[in-house]
Amino acid sequence: METTMRGICKMSAGPGWEYRTDLPIPQIGDGQVLMKVHATAVCGTDMHIIAWNEWAAKRMKDLPIVFGHETAGEVVQVGAAVKNLKVGDRISVETHIPCGRCFQCRTGNPHICENMQVFGVSVPGAFAEYAPVPASCAVPLAEGISYEMGSMLEAMGAGVHGVERADVQGKTVLVSGCGPIGLMAIGACRVHGAAKIVACDLFDEKLALAKTMGADITVNSGKEDVIKAVLDATQGHGADAAVDISGSGRAIVAGLRSLRKGGTLVSVGLPDGEIPINLTEDIIYREIVYTGISGRLMFETWDDCMNILRSPGFSLEPVIGGTYPLEDFQKAIDAINAGAPGKMILVP
Ligand SMILES: [Zn+2]
Ligand SMILES: [Zn+2]
Repeated sequence: METTMRGICKMSAGPGWEYRTDLPIPQIGDGQVLMKVHATAVCGTDMHIIAWNEWAAKRMKDLPIVFGHETAGEVVQVGAAVKNLKVGDRISVETHIPCGRCFQCRTGNPHICENMQVFGVSVPGAFAEYAPVPASCAVPLAEGISYEMGSMLEAMGAGVHGVERADVQGKTVLVSGCGPIGLMAIGACRVHGAAKIVACDLFDEKLALAKTMGADITVNSGKEDVIKAVLDATQGHGADAAVDISGSGRAIVAGLRSLRKGGTLVSVGLPDGEIPINLTEDIIYREIVYTGISGRLMFETWDDCMNILRSPGFSLEPVIGGTYPLEDFQKAIDAINAGAPGKMILVP
């Protein structure tokens, strides 16, 4: 077996990244497997890592590191203590690596572990030919799920978790932000029986895909008034639920004000900094329930994603924005920065 591999590295603190052809193939620990990477999708988080914002600087201490975390591949080597996987298994990866010992882990919430490590952020990830994966975070791919689809499940899970917290069955729901997660969230709303789905974004191309994924009404929030559109769609009452994928302060406030009294807002997208909210008028007097979600329930959300994938009429195909060889990472980044719709996927 060869000893070096190609991969994309964060070399040092500060903006940028490097494509390397001389990286050592990772050595695995007893509880890990070595995954031959078949597809790794580019996430908003990776864009933060490239730009080196406050979020990235706080979490990435151990440099250089291969980043990239939304991935799928094939097990080629298993650690001595691994019992649940074998060579040849096709897997995706839960990126939250819990400690297994803290209060959250011991009370059924490992996805918000107090000592969380994050695959492809605080420990080496998958923009490379091989990646070391904790066996406890590997998720076997059901038959018929391609590696490209597999690489989208982690992001899909964030959208699905958000939609499930919003409890959309029979309800009118607003989905703000029609990037890949938003598009998958819209599809999940449809499968979960939402009565009416309103989607908003700043890009018409993304809104067209939102329709494909099942949105009933699309609103370009750069040109139209989202709150008015939702009120018009609900006889003036407001939506039962809103799921914010955008992380935009403006969209979050518009989401709150689009809700009926007693409605629910779920935040999935991450704002860059603090955002001003009028608690009295927008939340307290109107008895709004506002919650965030972080990643996926381990592993209920993954199961739900697999079921949604199998639902009649649901397809992830429209959400694939493009596939690129690893060395063309810059092209994928350029496409994302240009507002190209869908998920960009790197194939080593
Ligand atoms: Zn991600
Ligand atoms: Zn823990």
